[in-house]
Amino acid sequence: MQNKESLITSDLVLIGGGHSHLFVLKHFAMNPQPGLRITLVTRDLHTPYSGMLPGFIAGHYDYDAAHIDLLPLARFAGARVIHAEVTAINAERKQITIAGRPSLNYDLLSINTGSRPTSPLLQDQQNDQFAVKPVDRFIDSWHRLEQRLVEDDKDLQLAVIGGGAGGIELALSLQYRVTQLAGRKASLRLLILTDRDRLLPGHNKRARQMFADILQQRAIPVFYQHRVTGFQNGFLQGDFETPVAADKAIWVTHASPAEWLTDSGLALDTNGFIAVNPCLQSVSHDDVFAAGDVAAVADYPRPKSGVFAVRQGLPLARNLILRYRQRKLRPFRPQAQFLSLISTGDRFAIASRGPWALQGKWCWWLKDRIDRKFIRRFSELPEMTRVEDDGGEIAAMRCGGCGSKVGSEILERVLEQIGQKYGISNDSGLEHPDDAALIRIPAGRELIQSIDHFRSFIDDPYLFGKIATNHALADLHAMGVNAHSAMVIANVVFGSEDKQSQDLYQLMSGVVETLQQNGTLLVGGHSGEASQMSCGVSVNGFARPEDLILKTGVRPGDLLILTRPLGSGVLFAADMLGKARGDWIDAAIEQMLMSSRDAASCLQEFRASACTDVTGFGLAGHLFEMARESACAIEIYIDRLPLYPGVISLSRQGIASSLQPQNIRIRHGIKDTENLASHENYPLIFDPQTAGGLVASVAEAQADKCMQQLRQLGYDQAQVIGRAIARTETDRILSLVNS
Ligand SMILES: Cc1cc2nc3c(=O)[nH]c(=O)nc-3n(C[C@H](O)[C@H](O)[C@H](O)COP(=O)(O)OP(=O)(O)OC[C@H]3O[C@@H](n4cnc5c(N)ncnc54)[C@H](O)[C@@H]3O)c2cc1C
Repeated sequence: MQNKESLITSDLVLIGGGHSHLFVLKHFAMNPQPGLRITLVTRDLHTPYSGMLPGFIAGHYDYDAAHIDLLPLARFAGARVIHAEVTAINAERKQITIAGRPSLNYDLLSINTGSRPTSPLLQDQQNDQFAVKPVDRFIDSWHRLEQRLVEDDKDLQLAVIGGGAGGIELALSLQYRVTQLAGRKASLRLLILTDRDRLLPGHNKRARQMFADILQQRAIPVFYQHRVTGFQNGFLQGDFETPVAADKAIWVTHASPAEWLTDSGLALDTNGFIAVNPCLQSVSHDDVFAAGDVAAVADYPRPKSGVFAVRQGLPLARNLILRYRQRKLRPFRPQAQFLSLISTGDRFAIASRGPWALQGKWCWWLKDRIDRKFIRRFSELPEMTRVEDDGGEIAAMRCGGCGSKVGSEILERVLEQIGQKYGISNDSGLEHPDDAALIRIPAGRELIQSIDHFRSFIDDPYLFGKIATNHALADLHAMGVNAHSAMVIANVVFGSEDKQSQDLYQLMSGVVETLQQNGTLLVGGHSGEASQMSCGVSVNGFARPEDLILKTGVRPGDLLILTRPLGSGVLFAADMLGKARGDWIDAAIEQMLMSSRDAASCLQEFRASACTDVTGFGLAGHLFEMARESACAIEIYIDRLPLYPGVISLSRQGIASSLQPQNIRIRHGIKDTENLASHENYPLIFDPQTAGGLVASVAEAQADKCMQQLRQLGYDQAQVIGRAIARTETDRILSLVNS
């Protein structure tokens, strides 16, 4: 009675959002494979396009023009995204280790993690020397140098280590950038060191001469046959007699692989890159594929360059599908010669291919056209339609006679894993499971309970488990109570036993970790399967009645403090449509992962007269309830609402949560004498929140100190968002004002 087509039977995990995986994602969007789930694990959500990197550094392109946002692309492909760094692969166990979260299993793996310049840097970047990759960290380091040129009048001598196309383009781009730097007090002097007797090895003589001339014109000296091995106390060291002085050094040397590949069990080439055959398949493990800089094709060595990573993209995608379908793979052999368009910092470039080279502004124009077209290919995606609930049909076809539970073996296995990993204590219901949990209520206390349950709005089970738990715990936190224990209903999507147990493990890891962080015991639960992942958490706590903070105590004169931004409803509605930027979603998730426990203690310390957590009814709905029950009115400072990044822009496009129309009905109870309903923040007071902040009323005399303390505790976006006033019979309960 199952719709086999809808079951997840295989996991394809993509590590790294490099150039080749852009093609893989797009190809899978156009050619979805029933039963195959795709998960992208990426250190960066915005991937830099190598062709535009020098132009970005020179300042010709802004961040968005030169980066591809992986989140909408992954949404388009129906792929899950895990924004985290992979730190190990175990090819025998088919498992990857991810920093700061549970490991992940795969059936099919594709690696496109690029490379880093060879350098002695132990830490990613140091104060006086840094590597050009990872690009985002390089950009941070460079911004600090720019700041120094503006604030300090001492000239800066910067050594670029590496005389390939990357090193030269970087030096010229940095020089150009500094000439444009407003308010600069000091100048930048650049020098290039290379271990070869020539620049640009691999390019023709004419191109090399053109670059040598340009570097000379721009007063950038080149130190040939200087193999640099270190940089210390202001000197570059290596196999040359006279040390070369510099204030800072940037490593743009030849590519080296990530260290974690060494213990992966995968066959590597002599330089440590993953050895693949012409089908881009690991020569040692037929379920592992690799492309781009991280891969080495034994039969046809090619330079490490974005061009090849791009060319391998489509063949990689096709071979992944063929491998999944157990069909014969197709080899791919890229041309040995290709057109390189290398920029010279200003809007000028040199074209090099085989034995010929040309230069001019037109080369830059051509490069710019090609590069912009590339970016558009992955950022201008077809419109996606919103699916409110696509689960009915599939769910109906699945036999529900078992109460839609996942198999008991799955549950047992997962609970055992969770118990071992998180050291579930003896007094927990999981350690000695019975039909129900027994909880003793301490004398003089009352039992406070709450429950929340919702479908997943993100596809990462681990983060979803954490957010769902935080959301549920906040109900008790809002009353000034920390939860003693919790029960969980975890529904994972239809899939093979193996897939369900992996999902359940990830989801429960998120739940248990969050409960542990809050000092709350997991005492029982229920697991099930459904067409969509969902999680419900019921929480119990004990308190003396006199210690509780209720919703009903708001006093006229109190200020209203909100501890977290608004807009999660809009953001995740946009995410479903592939319209939310990766960094916006990231910023919201970061806040949603924060427990409200410390905020609640702080509000208690400052004797909050009333408190609630902002969830499904939106800010207006919850404030309405507080004011009505407290027999006062509340003025909302419409211009002071803290909002998640991106929310205004999305709201202007008319994007709203599907719950918003219900919430907005309350507008009849809102007074708007200053015509503030036209304010761009207005729709956001109706936006339903997941894991929203606490909103509390605090005496005006205490509010400043309370705000300071909240910010010190990490609630850095907490804000005073209104004031309580006395209410007459005829007054509306809420009103909009400017602060
Ligand atoms: C200054 C400079 C200019 C260049 N200009 C050009 C050019 O004009 N043309 C050209 O063809 N090449 C150029 N290159 C070379 C080019 O940058 C690389 O060859 C290319 O980026 C390699 O592409 P890739 O797809 O293999 O990996 P990348 O583009 O490096 O992408 C790898 C991705 O994997 C992710 N990742 C890495 N490690 C992990 C991990 N452990 N876990 C999860 N995710 C991870 C990262 O977030 C990254 O986004 C330039 C290089 C430099 C330094």
